[in-house]
Amino acid sequence: MSQYSHEKLAARAKEIAPQIIEWRHQIHSHPELAFHETATSALIEKQLKKFGLDRVERIGSSKTGVLGVLKGTGTGPELCIGVRADIDALPIQEESGVPFASQTPGVFHGCGHDTHASCLLGTAWLLSEFRDCFAGTVKFFFQHAEEVLGGGEEFVKAGVMEDPHVDAVLALHALPDIELGQIGVRTDAMTAGVDEIKITIEGKRAHGAYPHFGVDTILIASTIVTQLMSLGSRELYPTDCALVTFGSIHGGISNSYIGAPVTLEGSLRTLRDDTREKFVRRIREIVESVATGLRGRATVEFHQESWPTTVDRAWVDRVRRACAQVDGAEAVDLRSPAMGGEDFALFLRKAPGALFRLGCRTPGGPHCPTHSPQFYADDRSLRIGYEVMATTVLNALTGAEG
Ligand SMILES: [Zn+2]
Ligand SMILES: [Zn+2]
Repeated sequence: MSQYSHEKLAARAKEIAPQIIEWRHQIHSHPELAFHETATSALIEKQLKKFGLDRVERIGSSKTGVLGVLKGTGTGPELCIGVRADIDALPIQEESGVPFASQTPGVFHGCGHDTHASCLLGTAWLLSEFRDCFAGTVKFFFQHAEEVLGGGEEFVKAGVMEDPHVDAVLALHALPDIELGQIGVRTDAMTAGVDEIKITIEGKRAHGAYPHFGVDTILIASTIVTQLMSLGSRELYPTDCALVTFGSIHGGISNSYIGAPVTLEGSLRTLRDDTREKFVRRIREIVESVATGLRGRATVEFHQESWPTTVDRAWVDRVRRACAQVDGAEAVDLRSPAMGGEDFALFLRKAPGALFRLGCRTPGGPHCPTHSPQFYADDRSLRIGYEVMATTVLNALTGAEG
């Protein structure tokens, strides 16, 4: 058993950086879409085995997720911590101009999951070298299929949060909105819960010259959209946040007929379970009563795609304290949560934990958001990412902090 010292960890973190960057370039130039992460998972599995983990297993229907389990050989709290990275790419043509750009037309790591996978390899490597400093267990979740939301569910269903039971979960996500060296944190929700909404409106057909013989479905649809926009301003706690957005409307026959069915498709984004419940109920009530009031009929369907990622203050504080120890890292408070969905939320519903943002914009460089064809994450963010993660885990497992 040896004593954990952050100086030793920091020195190793710098030494392994060139190899981690090389893996990042390899994963970046061979991006793979959700459920097809074959080469990426093979690279991960090979390295985890080299690190001498106790267990390395494939997860999911596509077997492209990888679970690694590392048991400490020293003394300390018998905690089990899960660290998760998503590993899939997007169906976007890369225009970043980097020398290690995607070699697969139309597929691109435009959300930085190549950096997440590499950072988790760095974390696993470091922790495997320091395993005699702790007694607890670390589970590494290299999760496939995040962009289409499905991999997280397969991980949880596969039982990765049990045997041994996971006490806390951690994850990072690249963010070009903040600069290299900055670690973005919040103490409540980091991302939103997302529901798909589908509304079908039925009326009665008539010629536009004789509207009184019909029931106008386009008028009902327009009124519903307008009415729902008032929910956020009139029925929501003023400091809470919820979004109702319609991105698609289809219906009608021609310019002079009314009453054919109209379909609206949209999304509801919320940060709290009780806000979601209220909005689901109120959207249903408003849609049905507006349609009935205008002599038509409407049905509403919700499909819950993701839950809010609600983080735990104690774990966020551990991340903050780790940032203070890591050379070049600075914790910054994020002004607002992201209103996109993230299936790390499923892990957070099983155990407390934290999701933090890894600043990846080159200082002075252009701002290219995630999912844009020009998205770029600075290579130097990797060392900061895995050192902050490994430090957070080791501090907890060695009892190096309260
Ligand atoms: Zn994404
Ligand atoms: Zn992402």
